[in-house]
Order: sequence, then structure tokens, then C-alpha cells
Amino acid sequence: MARAAAELKSVAEEARACTRCPLYRNATQTVFGEGPVHAKLMLVGEQPGDQEDLAGRPFVGPAGKLLDRALAEAGIDRGKIYLTNAVKHFKNEPRGKKRLHKRPNRYETEICKVWIDKEISLVRPVLILALGVTAAQSLTGRRTIVLSHERGHSIALPDGHRGMVTTHPSAILRMPDETARRAGFAGLVRDLKAAAKLAG
Ligand code: SF4
Repeated sequence: MARAAAELKSVAEEARACTRCPLYRNATQTVFGEGPVHAKLMLVGEQPGDQEDLAGRPFVGPAGKLLDRALAEAGIDRGKIYLTNAVKHFKNEPRGKKRLHKRPNRYETEICKVWIDKEISLVRPVLILALGVTAAQSLTGRRTIVLSHERGHSIALPDGHRGMVTTHPSAILRMPDETARRAGFAGLVRDLKAAAKLAG
């Protein structure tokens, strides 16, 4: 385990200097994954947001806070899971003093996969839960993901790992009204529980 932890640290250092795609130019820093090296459950989001970019840690902004609430409700200890993103730099468009989130394109997601592949090969989780379509596309290699049909079911990933897809917490935050947000949150909790059960 100590060797895997050291390797993970070294990969994170390597990723800090990554310039494989243009996204590093407009971001503060690489936001690598974090969590126990042999976590049974790995959660993969899309990319760091504004606050994650500044803090250098995944899931610390509004979506991260919603995820924390969902994890607590699902009975999952955040300290026991590995959290990361499909893309390691914050893709954004400056608009006045704000930086607006932009979804990474296929090229950026594919080229950044080198890092998540390394994380997966070192952590070797029992189950990988993709949060949202971008993460699901990255992990499955498929262009089309129909979240409403596929969420919550165990799927085989091309690398042999077991996966599952669910909604991204930021999609819940963007839902138009409180009723939709409540339903979205309940769905996320349900999928987190299913993922944790399969991870063991
Ligand atoms: S987004 Fe990924 S591939 Fe692109 S520069 Fe950042 S770490 Fe490298």
C-alpha cells in the first residue's frame, strides 16, 4: 500500500505540470484526485469548478457541499472514498470578474484520461461511480450516455472495472425548482447507496 501511495503522489506531481491540452492556460492549477489509496469506491466528476480550481482540491465548492450532504445521507464517509474528476483543469470563460464553467469537449476529455487511468490503476477501486455524462463518457469510452436509463445500474467498464453512473451534483443545483432539486437529490442518494453496497 505504501508503494501505491508513493506512486499516486508521484503521478499527482507529474499531473501538476501537465500541458497536454490547452486547458491549463486558463486555470490556476491541476486539481488531482484525493482519498485513500485503496478506497473501494471511487467517485469521478466532470472537472474542477471555480472554487476547486482556487483550492486545488476536488468537490469543495457548492456541488461538493451538495455531494457531502448526499454522502452523509447515504451513510458514506467521505474520508473513505477516492474523489476525482475526468478532466483535471477548470475549463472556463472569463466574463467580467466571473469565470463561467464550460463543459470540456471530447478531445480534452480523451487526452486527460491518461490521469484518471493512472489513478484507477493505482487505487484499484471495487466500483467507480461516474457523476454525470462527461465522466461516464470518459470511463465507458461511449459517446452516448442516457443518464435517465443507465443510472444506478452496475456496468462493466472497458478496463475491466465495475462502474455505475449517476447525476452530477451541479446538475441538481441547476434544476429549475425545489421539487425537482429534491427529487434529484433523492436519486443521487439512492445511487450512492447502491454504489456503496456493490463496493462492499
Ligand atoms: S486538462 Fe488534463 S490533459 Fe489538459 S492540461 Fe489539464 S491535466 Fe493536462
